[in-house]
Amino acid sequence: MNETVWLRCPVCGNKTRLKVRHDTELINFPLYCPKCKQETLINVKKTNLSVIKANTHIQKENIEL
Ligand SMILES: [Zn+2]
Repeated sequence: MNETVWLRCPVCGNKTRLKVRHDTELINFPLYCPKCKQETLINVKKTNLSVIKANTHIQKENIEL
């Protein structure tokens, strides 16, 4: 099974541009949401997303699209 799931932003619930498989594991991954422009540190295991720390301040130097 190569089922993939779009990760949703834990802040606004919008779909991000990141897809994960059921066997994908992310640890301390900075998930960027293009809608609310926030970065959230997350873990993902078996498509379950858990928030480590939500950033309230945007680091502008890291956002250049
Ligand atoms: Zn968002």
